[in-house]
Amino acid sequence: MTLQNESAQTNGFNVVIDALQANGVETMYGVVGIPVTDLARLAQVRGMRYLGFRHEGPAGTAAAAAGYLTGKPGVALTVSAPGFLNGLVSLAAATVNCFPMILISGSSEREIVDLSRGDYEELDQYNAAKPYAKAAYRVDRPEDIGLAVARAVRTATSGRPGGVYLDLPAKTLSALIDAEKAAASVFTVTDPAPAQLPADDAVARAVDVIAAGKKPLIIFGKGAAYAKAEQEALELVEATGIPFLPMSMAKGLIPDTHEASVAAARSLALKEADVVILVGARLNWLLSHGEAPHFNPDARFVQVEIDATEFDSNQPVAAPLAGDIVSVLGKLTPALRAAGVQADGDWRAELATKREANAAKMAASLQAPHTPMGYFGALGVLKKAIDAEPDTYLVSEGANTLDIGRNVIDIHLPRHRLDTGTWGVMGVGMGYAIAAAVETGRPVIALEGDSAFGFSGMEVETICRYRLPIVVVILNNGGVYKGDGVNTHGSDPAPTVLDLQARYDMLATAFGGTGYHVTTPAELDEALTAALAAGTPTVINAVIDPTLGTESGHLTNLNPATAIPTK
Ligand code: ADP
Repeated sequence: MTLQNESAQTNGFNVVIDALQANGVETMYGVVGIPVTDLARLAQVRGMRYLGFRHEGPAGTAAAAAGYLTGKPGVALTVSAPGFLNGLVSLAAATVNCFPMILISGSSEREIVDLSRGDYEELDQYNAAKPYAKAAYRVDRPEDIGLAVARAVRTATSGRPGGVYLDLPAKTLSALIDAEKAAASVFTVTDPAPAQLPADDAVARAVDVIAAGKKPLIIFGKGAAYAKAEQEALELVEATGIPFLPMSMAKGLIPDTHEASVAAARSLALKEADVVILVGARLNWLLSHGEAPHFNPDARFVQVEIDATEFDSNQPVAAPLAGDIVSVLGKLTPALRAAGVQADGDWRAELATKREANAAKMAASLQAPHTPMGYFGALGVLKKAIDAEPDTYLVSEGANTLDIGRNVIDIHLPRHRLDTGTWGVMGVGMGYAIAAAVETGRPVIALEGDSAFGFSGMEVETICRYRLPIVVVILNNGGVYKGDGVNTHGSDPAPTVLDLQARYDMLATAFGGTGYHVTTPAELDEALTAALAAGTPTVINAVIDPTLGTESGHLTNLNPATAIPTK
């Protein structure tokens, strides 16, 4: 139903919805207020889903995750200035993560903003967004809305995906436009992310580099998961026998239990590999910039990447393969097969021995007595739940909770793990969980450290309001990193201390969900099993030993040496 007046006119609000729907956008995540409230109302009237959040940060984060999961831009909606700035953080993070997202914010009129005349929530949002987004577009006339939305969809999705800001002044939204002219201005983008094939000589060069290696290793990153390259990834591994390492969000692209996965022998694999094939993974801090001693200093790199400016960003790339992963692997694997490239048996055996030794250590940690409950006791329960129902989405954040959980919990299906990503940022948990539930309809476990949960905890109300099948499990050790910090110079709590007695479970009950307070693995198991069976909003406050955990989790080395005495 299009809201039109008698003289066959429509307005900017309607054209925005027309243009989004013409490009397959079915859901918006946002926080309403002046001047976008009617846009959200109209979205509902016109058959779109609108999910209202309590803060623009998690709303934007949800849109980013929706983009990652579906390959179509996730759309977030905010009000002007402060609402926009809150949403901008998630737009920036989406861009850094290479997720397609569109942030739509209402704004003030250009002539007021440009003369700094002081408007309600005045801000030059268009220019503020530019440095943090892949692109920003501002729509000053209703007849340009169709073009602007199409451009946003194209820019967010094509090449290296990222975040696009779309600035919609109140005047553009309310402006009247001839309905026929408006309809003609809206169009569907053809093939939003066209295939990009690598050149034949680039493929031949890559085959030569890989064939010359004695110890090849494949690293799959979240770019491969985003590209839905699971079939091609499996064919590459199975055709060549080359061991692979998944980055955290690429876990499940090929099941973690696959025999060629060397996740449990990560350090050895990186240190020894003489040819490293990067598939949708950047050699950034998460891979120690490809530097020794983490990497073999003589390693040669092959990189499959859609953005050619990424090559050589940290190490010389001997064989750049510019193109989209599905197309590149579609040519590379047959070429490797034709050349008879097979991973050396001794190399595979060396890694398998290490992997089995580490797996045995992990099994011992999971079986050790867990009184009081610690990370391994709690995470073993989550591992069991995902093993039992692999089509459960796992969202994870926190320092130790994230780091230890990554090693303990196997993921069996692609894109089923969403975590803190390229920035390693906290506060993404609730937004990611909501998007995973909304976009897939599957159960979601949001595994949270107590500190990480706090950044977006109010969205438990959103989860309850929409009755989403999300179980939030908070490993509560009463602190940032750990809960036993002491301030020896006053009565205030130490900077890292939070409230160990906090009853996070009551947040769920406050909003009509279910809450559990548990202190042992057996109780956690019982609560998680019941919550997943019920499929209703639940928060489990799982109290663990406050002395456990290390400062900054596995990133202790990133802390600068302190000049301030800590004792
Ligand atoms: P991780 O953090 O898992 O290592 P990154 O986010 O660092 O992964 O890397 C993902 C890379 O994948 C980015 O450089 C991005 O440009 C690239 N990428 C995203 N989509 C595609 C695609 N369809 N084809 C090729 N490369 C892609």
